[in-house]
Amino acid sequence: MTILLSTLNARYTHASLGLRYLLANMGPLTAQTSIHEFVIGAKTTDLVERLLAHQPRIVGFGVYIWNVEETTRVVAMLKRVAPEVTVILGGPEVSYETAGQEIVKLADYVVTGWGDVTFPKLCGEILAGPKPLMKVHAGVQPPMAEIALPYSLYSDDDIAHRTLYVEASRGCPFKCEFCLSSLDKTAWPFPLDAFLAEMESLHARGARLFKFVDRTFNLNVKTSLRIMQFFLDKLEAAPNDPVYAHFELVPDHLPDALKESIAKFPPGALQFEIGIQSFNPEVQALVSRRQDNAKAADNIRWLCEQSQTHLHVDLIAGLPGEDVASFARGFDQLVKLGAQEIQFGILKRLRGTPIIRHTEPFGMVYDPYPPYTVLATNRIDFATMQRLVRFARYWDLVANSGRFANTTRALLLDAPFDNFMAFSDWIYTRTDATHRIALEKLAKLVQEWLELRGMARADATALVASDYAGKVDAHTHKPVVAQGVAVAPARQVRHLAA
Ligand code: SF4
Repeated sequence: MTILLSTLNARYTHASLGLRYLLANMGPLTAQTSIHEFVIGAKTTDLVERLLAHQPRIVGFGVYIWNVEETTRVVAMLKRVAPEVTVILGGPEVSYETAGQEIVKLADYVVTGWGDVTFPKLCGEILAGPKPLMKVHAGVQPPMAEIALPYSLYSDDDIAHRTLYVEASRGCPFKCEFCLSSLDKTAWPFPLDAFLAEMESLHARGARLFKFVDRTFNLNVKTSLRIMQFFLDKLEAAPNDPVYAHFELVPDHLPDALKESIAKFPPGALQFEIGIQSFNPEVQALVSRRQDNAKAADNIRWLCEQSQTHLHVDLIAGLPGEDVASFARGFDQLVKLGAQEIQFGILKRLRGTPIIRHTEPFGMVYDPYPPYTVLATNRIDFATMQRLVRFARYWDLVANSGRFANTTRALLLDAPFDNFMAFSDWIYTRTDATHRIALEKLAKLVQEWLELRGMARADATALVASDYAGKVDAHTHKPVVAQGVAVAPARQVRHLAA
């Protein structure tokens, strides 16, 4: 095979949409191009050996924040053992601040931004010779209708076992300074009929889990309604073989027509990811995030109370101007609104994002290595930031996992942030670990904490048992959930685990 398209995915279940777009747009080079996906954690020598077994002339790597370190090692080894192979890099991690990056020095070429047209063109020039002299090629953005859609390249195996990423649009019109999409300045929709025809054929082939990567799914309500109706029709036609869709929403834009459509979805069919990031208006202004907080809160409350949607709401700690107290207020507000999952992330300084302008005025100190997490600000010192990092980890284990639904309420009471921070500090001193805590051990620790906080032993035991009685299924190694406790529908569980 002449051209290999490769990347290291974060998990096996994540099928790379980017590589499939490239393959779909290779034109006359399609027959000589193939995709080779790996998962981070693989042995570098194995990976290089597998790629070279195809005797490629060109290898294109998709480089992302989660794989840049490993991909750098792969490229270094590949160029040592097979210097004649041309390496082309693409992806967000090499699209900005390319100069000085180790992986860029090792590679032959870089395509920044959109690769759909520029990557095949560059491959054609390399194969025809003479090789282009310029190393960095700015990706050309074609009209959306000219981009070949990649969905037929999801194999039957992908459909059966992996999350299918799809996009009805690219880009975002908002300008949140911590986000790479802020550089897009607008959103570009794919022609809707053609897109829905592809979804139809994926569905006919057995696809039931659709994860939309559109940054602002609800921007154009007419389009959102048609896409929602597509899924509602499928649900109505085959209620016993339901579809499941995941969308990212902007929180302060939920017109009545959209609400009506959302309210028709049964439980387990819809998940929304909603970025709140911060409820602090001063912080929002500093990072150019336009958000009507009152409307956003109303919409989240409506979704929690009036729809059967699973809500995953994002907050970011460590933004410029945010201290622990203001972050805690936002966190408490979200808990009270009732979102099922609060994803509490720590700010990352993504390459190319304009948040860099706040580095000096707000004393922002970032880890120089991926994922470039903020280590300290002038409002949150390093030690406190580490407490927040641990809070986020334990929050995932206890609250977001859904394994301690009843117990979490007792942990949080009327001061969710402060109470969970106290629990987080205590459990860290008891375990000295944030990973590899066996579920049974975690359940015992949660119970011990409740007793330390004054709950009678019998009550604490009963409460933890109401979620999970410390029993682990011998086959699945998953907790045995006590009778009567609501669990997410199977399809949703599968999705959430992806
Ligand atoms: S955070 Fe969301 S709304 Fe803001 S620029 Fe990024 S994608 Fe757009």
